[in-house]
Amino acid sequence: MAETLRGLGVSPGRAAGRVYRMAGPPLLPAPAQAVDAEPALSEALSALRATAAELAARAEKAPDTTSREILEAQSFIADDPGLHESVEENIGAGMDAAHAIDAACAHHRRALLEAGGYFAERAADLDDIRNRAVAVVLGLPMPGVPDPGHPFILVADDLAPADTVNLDPSVVLALLTEKGGPTSHTAILARARGLPAVVACRGVIGVGDGTWVSVDGARGEVETGIGEEAAAEIQRQASADRRRSATSRGPGRTSDDHPVKLLLNIGSVDDLGPAVTGSPSGEGPAGVDAEGVGLFRTEFLFLDRREAPGYEEQVAAYEAVFRAAPGGHVVIRTLDAGTDKPLPFLGLPEEPNPALGIRGLRVSRVRPEVLDTQLDAIAEAARAAGAQPWVMAPMVTTVSEAADFAGRARARGITHVGAMVEVPAAALRAGRLLNELDFLSIGTNDLSQYTFASDRQHGELADLLDPWQAALLQLIADCAAAGQAAGKPVGVCGEAAADPLLATVLVGLGVTSLSMSAPSIAPVRDSLAAHSLARCRDNARVALGADDPLQARKLVLPD
Ligand code: PEP
Ligand code: MG
Repeated sequence: MAETLRGLGVSPGRAAGRVYRMAGPPLLPAPAQAVDAEPALSEALSALRATAAELAARAEKAPDTTSREILEAQSFIADDPGLHESVEENIGAGMDAAHAIDAACAHHRRALLEAGGYFAERAADLDDIRNRAVAVVLGLPMPGVPDPGHPFILVADDLAPADTVNLDPSVVLALLTEKGGPTSHTAILARARGLPAVVACRGVIGVGDGTWVSVDGARGEVETGIGEEAAAEIQRQASADRRRSATSRGPGRTSDDHPVKLLLNIGSVDDLGPAVTGSPSGEGPAGVDAEGVGLFRTEFLFLDRREAPGYEEQVAAYEAVFRAAPGGHVVIRTLDAGTDKPLPFLGLPEEPNPALGIRGLRVSRVRPEVLDTQLDAIAEAARAAGAQPWVMAPMVTTVSEAADFAGRARARGITHVGAMVEVPAAALRAGRLLNELDFLSIGTNDLSQYTFASDRQHGELADLLDPWQAALLQLIADCAAAGQAAGKPVGVCGEAAADPLLATVLVGLGVTSLSMSAPSIAPVRDSLAAHSLARCRDNARVALGADDPLQARKLVLPD
């Protein structure tokens, strides 16, 4: 049965094909009763050494520095005297080789998880060492990437570096994991390889081997149960997208030269690699030719952490983005925590209705120092990079919230201060908000959620969350009109901006910039170039007048 699964889209792009799951970890047999300690120890240590050697060999063959360093580090862990000592202690306590390795890895894994943040994400490395070494001891097949003999979409609980490093992008079409976070190895390596990837995708591990699925790595969506023909069509479109991205150039313009800035949505400087910005020498890939960053989601630096990233770490992360952004233009969003992005270190109490609770800018009501430190770090990074970032807050709801945020930002020398419009209350008062602010950026993902009282993660309510809904478009129109009256920019940075046809409607409504993930830039640029401003305005009028999204699309579809 067809079903849409949702997770975190961590590497954009589309793909379709059959899914195959990684071979599971080796299961432990019942513990041996009488263990001869000396041979058991030598068996366990030689399994760990063999694992270290195997990882080191893979590191040597790794196709890039990032992958090589990750594998080398993992090889060192397998050879770590501390790990070997734990194994020896376990065998001394009567365990057999396999159980001793398992328990030692579990012990070190716990320590990593307790350390939190970056270390916690290395827990998958230790699981992989455990699985490999236990498989050696038990003489079981090495867990790893399946080989169905044709291109496929790889599904796993989580992926360790050794699994992903030698993946061939002509065989593996996309990566889907049940667990993992935005900074997990799956995410890092998928981006490095240009493979679409969705992590933290609940239920994906239960999709049977051989099932046809489609993947949208920008939206974080996986559709199961599609047909072979639909899959082939998606693959054709994906290849066409890649070809078009490789050749499309220039700033966003309608056919009659009305400018619309095309900007990037990013989570970290990793999203500004050569495939996106072009290689500095001009000899490598040409990049997508965006005009800056329209949404830097800073929360990716904070997720999965036990403590907030320190001031210095934040300065370094922001400065890197300010330096790498095309044209030096960056719209940076302060921490957007809560609901779908819970942050344990904030210590927020559980809420019965978290989407309507302490989230986004509201976190600063209870932990004001988190926002203050972040604004300090942004200001310092801007000074260091000689940049003038535009700084905006998420989930601004009232004029007084906007004024308070603007005051705090300007006190630090930040010159361009704005707000995301994600709550209908803010859209309804856009003109008043702009009395306090320099710009607005409309987050259509949340604005849909709150306008239609529909959880944005809820697959059953996708029709209500459709960005072609006229009520959403009306709110966007009101914001854009307020921007025009004030002579201030109003952009869209939610997923709506990435729909090439809807982009013409948004421009017709008066939006001045569109921000999206890199693969969408070229199709949106092409679509705008094929429409005059008058035609965009026509499209906007027609879409606003439609009774439902289906009708709106039909009326607007190009001749
Ligand atoms: C939005 O809500 O549209 C948006 C861009 O923010 P996020 O998706 O990060 O909540
Ligand atoms: Mg949002």
